[in-house]
Amino acid sequence: MRICRMLIGGEWVDSRSGQTFESFNPFTGKPWALVPRATPEDVGAAVAAARAAFEDSSWRELSATDRGVLLGRVADLIAERADGLAELETRDNGKLITEMGAQLRYLPQWFRYYAGLADKLEGRVIPIDRPGMFNFTIEEPLGVVAALTPWNSPLMLGTWKLAPALAAGNTCVWKPSEHASVSALEFGKLFAEAGFPPGVVNIVSGFGNEIGDALVGHKDIAKVAFTGGDATGQRVYETAAKQIKPVTMELGGKSANIVFEDADLDNALKGVVSGIFAATGQTCVAGSRALIQRSILDEFVARFVELAKTARMGDPLDPNTQIGPITTRPQFAKILDYLEIARNEGAKCVLGGGPSERPECGDGWFIEPTIFVDVEPGMRIAQEEVFGPVLGIIPFEDDDEAVEIANGTVYGLAAGVWTADIGRCLTMARRLEVGTVWINTYRASSYMSPFGGYKRSGFGRESGLSAIREYVQEKSVWIDTSGETPNPFIQR
Ligand code: NAD
Repeated sequence: MRICRMLIGGEWVDSRSGQTFESFNPFTGKPWALVPRATPEDVGAAVAAARAAFEDSSWRELSATDRGVLLGRVADLIAERADGLAELETRDNGKLITEMGAQLRYLPQWFRYYAGLADKLEGRVIPIDRPGMFNFTIEEPLGVVAALTPWNSPLMLGTWKLAPALAAGNTCVWKPSEHASVSALEFGKLFAEAGFPPGVVNIVSGFGNEIGDALVGHKDIAKVAFTGGDATGQRVYETAAKQIKPVTMELGGKSANIVFEDADLDNALKGVVSGIFAATGQTCVAGSRALIQRSILDEFVARFVELAKTARMGDPLDPNTQIGPITTRPQFAKILDYLEIARNEGAKCVLGGGPSERPECGDGWFIEPTIFVDVEPGMRIAQEEVFGPVLGIIPFEDDDEAVEIANGTVYGLAAGVWTADIGRCLTMARRLEVGTVWINTYRASSYMSPFGGYKRSGFGRESGLSAIREYVQEKSVWIDTSGETPNPFIQR
């Protein structure tokens, strides 16, 4: 058993209660690590450490350029340790080593990008309309940021918050998911090695329902950066609202992958596979609804089923595996429930539809890649986030109907469009109510490009220039240069 500790105020500590919980390897179905089970008291200590670090001159008076230097060192350390960190993620959340490895090798770019931005938060001089007045703005950090992340990509989603938050001069308390905390706790070591003052980054492990409110509702948390499900997001938002604190919400989705009859079908088939079976469907941007123009429906379904049948399942640490296990036992049960719901609603299963019996899947929590046809847009399987390898195929006649179906859910995270018509590319990009539109591609992402949701998929943006603005507040400073204070009873 791997034994983990939490990072509070630069010290590696157990929970004050002494309690731990087991973290499971989804491929074996067995526990492999012991993780501290933080209490609200531990959370209080982490927030106090982060607040003290925020006020300490070693961080507060560090120049923005030097903050960037520290972030750059973290980037170098991630690059050095990418393979080891990826392996920890794969053991803990069951996602493919090929995917986690690629993610980890790319992760330094976020730290480098925000390292470069740290000393470019410049403020503005306003050409103010009041004679005898000088007015300028300062961009200031908010204080202590609480970062809450889900289990599907712990280090990537943690980085999306920590890198811009630190670049802007905040300090952080990060709570990773109780289902995948190990890589985050290991990641904490990089900050000390890079030379960050103690307490600037703190990591507490534990259960959302035990410590979430204590963290989000703590009076010294200035901002909450949340990624997770929309029901949890709503609760976090409500708790934050009681203290009027800003939040960013990166929530779930029910993304449509729309294939028009003029699309390059070979590419579209791969795009729809990547949307739903990559990462075993456990990604917020899963293209869990395939909208297929009716004229190509039969050909698409036949070819798609054949392609999906070839997917190799098994050990996520094997570089040849294409579909790994479901990360958590409750999530496994939830997906099975949805398969039942879809059948009861009248959807027809043409591939998979249950747990995998393949010998290479061992005792892991595996679901066969599943495809439903005869799916109606209003069915629960077409409206609710399943978060697994389950695709619903919905036919459409023309562009208007495709847009109506695609936009007809409460979510608005992403959409894919497959077409050879450039005019259609542009009109679809405008008409889809989502934060990301992929045209003739799917799941592309970069540290340079803003990512986030419309509608119930959340608000606020991660990555790109936009993200650093989520971690600053703008102060307006007025100076009277006239030397004469006018009538005090009239507003200037
Ligand atoms: P979740 O909402 O159950 O948990 C997310 C985090 O919130 C975890 O750290 C959890 O411990 C914590 N939490 C739980 N209850 C809490 C409470 N009362 N107060 C504060 N924190 C609490 O999500 P999950 O099951 O871990 O992850 C899957 C979800 O995440 C899916 O809905 C997926 O779409 C979403 N997701 C969104 C994005 C995005 O960028 N939009 C990315 C990845 C995942």
